[in-house]
Amino acid sequence: MITYNLDFLIAGLVLLLIVFYHYWEYDNKQRLDSTNNRIFRFFIATALADVSFDLLSSVLIMDERPGLANMTNLVLTIFYILQLVYPLALVFYAQTLREVSFDKIKKEMLVWTLPPALILCLVLSNSWTGLLFSVDVGGVYHHGPLYLLMYGYAFVYAWVLILLTLIHKKELSKRSVAVLWEFLLIESGCVLYQALHSSCLTTGFGIGIGVTVLYLTIGNPSSYMDHMTGAFDKHYFDTWFHEQRLKDKPVHMITITLPRLQHINRVMGTHVGNQLLKQITETLQQIDPHVQVFWVSGKKFFLVMQTLADYERTRDEVMAFFRKTFDTDGGPVAFPAIICGIIHGERLPENSFLAYVDYMAGLVKNSRETVLIQSDDKMMNGFLYERKIDIFLREAIDRDLFDVYYQPIYSLEKGGYVTLEALSRLWHPSLGYVPPDVFITLAEKNGQILKIGLLQFRRVCRFVKENEWIMREIRNIKFNLSPVEILEYDHVKALLDIIREFGLNPSYFQFEITETAATEYSAQLFEALDLIQKAGVTLCLDDFGSGYANLDMILKLPFACIKIDRSLLRGLGEEPKVAFFYHSLVSVLNAMHYRVVAEGVETEEEKDKLSQWGVDMIQGFYFSKPLSSPEIAALLKDQSAGNPRS
Ligand code: C2E
Ligand code: CA
Ligand code: CA
Repeated sequence: MITYNLDFLIAGLVLLLIVFYHYWEYDNKQRLDSTNNRIFRFFIATALADVSFDLLSSVLIMDERPGLANMTNLVLTIFYILQLVYPLALVFYAQTLREVSFDKIKKEMLVWTLPPALILCLVLSNSWTGLLFSVDVGGVYHHGPLYLLMYGYAFVYAWVLILLTLIHKKELSKRSVAVLWEFLLIESGCVLYQALHSSCLTTGFGIGIGVTVLYLTIGNPSSYMDHMTGAFDKHYFDTWFHEQRLKDKPVHMITITLPRLQHINRVMGTHVGNQLLKQITETLQQIDPHVQVFWVSGKKFFLVMQTLADYERTRDEVMAFFRKTFDTDGGPVAFPAIICGIIHGERLPENSFLAYVDYMAGLVKNSRETVLIQSDDKMMNGFLYERKIDIFLREAIDRDLFDVYYQPIYSLEKGGYVTLEALSRLWHPSLGYVPPDVFITLAEKNGQILKIGLLQFRRVCRFVKENEWIMREIRNIKFNLSPVEILEYDHVKALLDIIREFGLNPSYFQFEITETAATEYSAQLFEALDLIQKAGVTLCLDDFGSGYANLDMILKLPFACIKIDRSLLRGLGEEPKVAFFYHSLVSVLNAMHYRVVAEGVETEEEKDKLSQWGVDMIQGFYFSKPLSSPEIAALLKDQSAGNPRS
């Protein structure tokens, strides 16, 4: 008569039931959809079945009733099959923790499936051969001659797992390796104990503890969740997206950017903002069981799906949802969103997805109402172009590949050029000329504008040093400072130091700052402007009339010159009001003794009008395009010789 102590086995089963319940409950609600999760789910289920059948077969073996012989035989056969599947499922699970293509794993796994498949034949034929075990007609259990084979198999697969973690160390996170080893340690300890005390069934207990450890560490689905919103988090998105890419699966996405979130948090309180986010998450999660909802970064949701039909339906529902007002504790709130649709997001380069969404959202000018913007080839190419330039910029800075062109500005009164504007130029080896609007904007975003500013200003100073005679022809050279530069006190100091380093007169230079920078009131701005002025460099307000001018600020800041943006000039022909406005503006600025420059003058008609309105200085293609330094030197040489080219 065999007697077992079942207490440990029951404890193991209870642990597995708890894990199983929590995993399923969460999984049902959240629809985790990655290979890793699916295999883990399968692994838990196998463990649970294995321990259940272990318990059942032990009870039956102890019972030894002749009438139960067949039943005992059947239950033992199923238990042996599960004993084969369980280590295999574990190896499978460990494989999915690797960061490699699933195809590669599949091939390897085929090899590891072969040995258990062979043993399976043995298990299935055991009723006839009795090689593993037998149950006699009296219902009594007997070991077969090969009964140790199952232990051997489990032992070998434990080593397989250890080997795999060692071989693929680079593709596994340190934490995964540590947890897998911990798991094996627990399990082998429990198996060893049972081997020494065969009546005490601790193996199943080991499985229970081992799976619980996995669940609490690397297999816990709620660790993928953002706890405030209840959506999946950025980390899970990255893992998931990476996996889809490895599998070459189509990924369509809808991203939702909430530009007003910060405003609502500030005005109505964070609790209202949070309430809105929860409300949105819940609705989004209910849209479709095939759609996964991620909350990434401070104000973005990502919805992902795999069929175009799902994409279209979700897009329409999301649009309708964000056009409605939301009920909050603070009353009804309009919460507009920028909704970006991306079909086949898997085509984007690795790790560029977030940047692409920002790029797309950046194309939306008015974010006061919900808008939809869908990615197309043109947009994606535009983004990829900018990315290439962005990468190239680093090299361009390291190797100082920039150039400066100079656009001369004509004085009608003097009948010649009186000043120059320095404009940066850059050529990409395969893409050719890169407009400064593109690379300056990129450099402003990634902070490299400071380096570019220094390189370019040094270049301008070098040019002036080598051709100092030009300063007899012109009043000054205008140099553009972007808002990022002007707000960086040390940078401004460094620019002024360059003038000193070349031993040039500061009055040779005028810094142009844009209207947007000038209206951004700050103590830093005043400090920087003060420093510039004290050094003897004058200031010019650029692009006047293109943004939201804060006139009060403009009057307070010490500008010597104001450039009227060319957008004002464009409406001149059609709209009498524009002409009236332009004319009046010039009169006011002249009366206030500003030097006024009209930008972007392309035709004789425009020039004549501006002349009638009292504009003296004209910048535009009508007189000259920006010219290279030898060209500008030649132009000014001609002018000094008394034969201007215009
Ligand atoms: P901006 O400061 O307003 O410079 C004038 C821009 O208008 C130049 O464009 C010039 O080529 C263009 N332009 C001049 N006359 C005409 C005309 O008659 N018609 C038209 N359609 N355009 C005209 P560019 O060189 O492409 O520069 C674009 C912008 O890039 C500049 O606008 C400036 O904001 C920025 N930028 C250029 N170089 C630098 C630099 O070294 N530093 C900084 N911070 N910004 C720069
Ligand atoms: Ca300018
Ligand atoms: Ca301008």
